[in-house]
Amino acid sequence: MPCFRYLHKLLCITATATVLAACSESAPPVADSPAAAEAPTVTSPPPPGQLGKTVEPTLYHLELTIDPTQDDFSGVVAIEIMVREPTDHIWLHGKGLNVSEVYLVTAEGTRIEASYEQRLKSGVSLVSLAQPIEAGAATLHFEYSAPFNTASFALFKAVRGDNSYAVTQFEPIAARQAFPGFDEPGFKVPFDLVVVSRAGDVTITTTPEVSVEALEDGFVRHLFARTRPLPTYLLAFAVGPYDLVDYGMIPANSIRQREVALRGVAARGLGERLAYALENTAGLLAVLEEYFATPYPYRKLDLIAVPEGFGGAMENPGAITYDEYLLLMDEESALSQRRAYTTTHAHEMAHMWFGNLVTPAWWNDIWLNEAFASWMMNKVSDKYWQDGEFDRETLKGALGAMTNDSLASARQIREPVDRNDQIIDAFDGITYQKGGGVLAMLERYVGEDEFQAGVQLHMERHTDSTASAEDFIKNLAEGSGRSEIEAAFRSYIEQPGVPLVSAHVNCDDEQNPKLEVSQTRYAPLGSSIDPGDSEWRIPLCVNYVADGAEKSTCALLTERKQSIPLESDSCPSRLHPNADGAGYYRFSLDETWWNGLIADASVLAPSEALVLTDSLDAAFRAGMVSADTYVSGLVALLNHETWDVADLAMGQLEQITQILDSSQRSAAQRAFRQITRPRFARLEGASDTGSDLLRERMQRFLIVIANDQEMRKPLAQLAAARIGLDGEPDPSAVAESELETVLSIGVQDLGEAFFDLLLEQAIASEDPLFRASATGALARVEDPVLVGKLQDSLLTGAFKGTEFSSIVFRQMVRTATTEATYSWIRENDTVVFGMIPEFFRSSQVPALGGAFCSNERADEWQKFIVSSADTLPGYERSLAQTIESIQLCAALKQARAVELVEVFNSIE
Ligand SMILES: [Zn+2]
Repeated sequence: MPCFRYLHKLLCITATATVLAACSESAPPVADSPAAAEAPTVTSPPPPGQLGKTVEPTLYHLELTIDPTQDDFSGVVAIEIMVREPTDHIWLHGKGLNVSEVYLVTAEGTRIEASYEQRLKSGVSLVSLAQPIEAGAATLHFEYSAPFNTASFALFKAVRGDNSYAVTQFEPIAARQAFPGFDEPGFKVPFDLVVVSRAGDVTITTTPEVSVEALEDGFVRHLFARTRPLPTYLLAFAVGPYDLVDYGMIPANSIRQREVALRGVAARGLGERLAYALENTAGLLAVLEEYFATPYPYRKLDLIAVPEGFGGAMENPGAITYDEYLLLMDEESALSQRRAYTTTHAHEMAHMWFGNLVTPAWWNDIWLNEAFASWMMNKVSDKYWQDGEFDRETLKGALGAMTNDSLASARQIREPVDRNDQIIDAFDGITYQKGGGVLAMLERYVGEDEFQAGVQLHMERHTDSTASAEDFIKNLAEGSGRSEIEAAFRSYIEQPGVPLVSAHVNCDDEQNPKLEVSQTRYAPLGSSIDPGDSEWRIPLCVNYVADGAEKSTCALLTERKQSIPLESDSCPSRLHPNADGAGYYRFSLDETWWNGLIADASVLAPSEALVLTDSLDAAFRAGMVSADTYVSGLVALLNHETWDVADLAMGQLEQITQILDSSQRSAAQRAFRQITRPRFARLEGASDTGSDLLRERMQRFLIVIANDQEMRKPLAQLAAARIGLDGEPDPSAVAESELETVLSIGVQDLGEAFFDLLLEQAIASEDPLFRASATGALARVEDPVLVGKLQDSLLTGAFKGTEFSSIVFRQMVRTATTEATYSWIRENDTVVFGMIPEFFRSSQVPALGGAFCSNERADEWQKFIVSSADTLPGYERSLAQTIESIQLCAALKQARAVELVEVFNSIE
């Protein structure tokens, strides 16, 4: 699935909001709900979820005519089906299709006329047969046309300059907008693919081209090889005046006897920027082949840079699509961009096995696909690029997911999916990052080799077929020889929440110290969570220093309270309750033990320092630790030598300012400068990966969050030079990695002339990287007059899709512009909501309120969103989580803001 997380990073979207592009086709004349849709000839209502198994596809013949210079495309489809019982109708999927012909041919060759009608908005459609048919094989025929989607979803059109490109994003349920079919992951069958396109257009789909036939009027008919069995959501098409870069063959290796053709695809003129991505593909692929001990399953591999941000990347077999940011780069590009490419590419290629070769039987298990690929990508990246600092990424992802998982309204990893409109709910941080963290925890528990054996067994048993999470758990237990993990796994995927392990060191008997632990569900101040309502089976390991040595002890927590003997003859001097950060849980300690850990923060392993940072922040938010201990802990952790420990501590400081009033913020900013400057100075001259990454982030923190005037002035001059405020633009004035930060200073400090010029350049630019940096900077404008100009440009449609929503989100989330943006949204709600891509509108719009921190605003926002409910189907979970977050913020503010500011004021 699209790797939303990168988009979150790029566009500053919250973890709760799922980002994907929209489907904005003409509204079909169909019923809103299953109950309202009774057909005259069919007594059963349309199935709102799974279609059932009465009729199943066995093979598709799909011919699409795609000309991206037009507004519509067309198709001729024959679906070979197996009918299990006599029937006079067939339910399948088709959305927004203008079907001109439909009929069925029986195995005996009898043609039966039929009619087609879309019955639900989600695309559940009915084929009514003129006469009943017997059980057996048959073929369904369709001819149809449909409009191209124009908002980065389904079969969509992206326009850049004078060129139009067509490309697809089908997952989860948009293949039905491109052709009629049985659009569920469980229907996994081969496809014969044909595409008719203009003679000059590059034409790509899942498999290699077999033959080409010239047609009249300058069109060409491309025949492609039959696919392996695939679900509809994994097909892909790309047609248009793309640059096509043939990279030759990926050579055979010890696992794979055959070569694989590798190509890169990008908008016209951008092909040469694919070299880095192509160059590093074979190495990443080889790591995966070794892990699975099976060859790359498909015949060729095309990497497609999509000329419009659609929300990340998508693992289409043989034709992976990416946002341009993730594919267009070279050796000199920003480290963060090259790292994002590496993990995303590893993620999508991991899906070639896990997801594509073995596919979830239904959407309720898509979490496992994404959890697996999210965990695997860091493992593969770490192996391929050893000093790329990937080894703690899965852990950090899991810690990030805990914020959402701390809500009373959090969802569990595995949830039933009964309706089409619930499917998109399954793609969020809980799926990707918590799921990945849980897999990492189990791997640690059973051992790397044993876990791998379980994965290989799973792949072997379900190749070219589907599997459920139940199958995976069983295969993992069997393959690893550790049956006890089944219960532990279930306890994590079948209930929401973060376990809180409270650890108390009991040294009453000095000779025989023991650790008394209890588990509850973590609940921040103001939460309605009952801490005693959940219980997990937690693989727990602790580290401690005793008798002058570092030791560790592990146990599987199966009770609410447990006592664990420590192997020591004396009371430990320090104890860390989550050794190596391997467990998905938070911990709490008595205050003296917190202080003991903080005093030794600099010598903690990076992973242990990371979980300390998270647990300490969580303890402050739960009222379990003083502000003094909290801040001194974050200061110690910000000075940890490891880049991402410092980065996480900095992130906590940034986030906690949400509970401060504007009058209190300057105290925080002054304290942040005092705390951060010495650490930033220590980075001078260091050139390792971690230092480079930290420098980029710390510079932004000092400038944007801590408002460091001394740093801003010289950078403002660079911003002016970069865009040519007083002369010709100088692209070499600013490094790519700093561009957004530097342009932000220009936007905030250089007044209207700079703002106007940057706005003009951003709108005119066809360079995706410049556009991303420029829109990020424009979104930080604070001057009310300029904010008004930005809002006007948004309403005129100068920014589309994800660019539009990221600007609105940033304006909303930044305190200086929250109120102005809120008023603007209220005045223009219909237009603004309408411009946020439909597919994630329902989760994204409610999440815009996440910037508020008072109960009054929570109530107001609730009423406002509910009043627009009819335009936001499926908004409920996102709104509930946003309202709860606002209320938690208000409670924390009420309880702790004064104490916190006192501590900030005391920092010298
Ligand atoms: Zn994925």
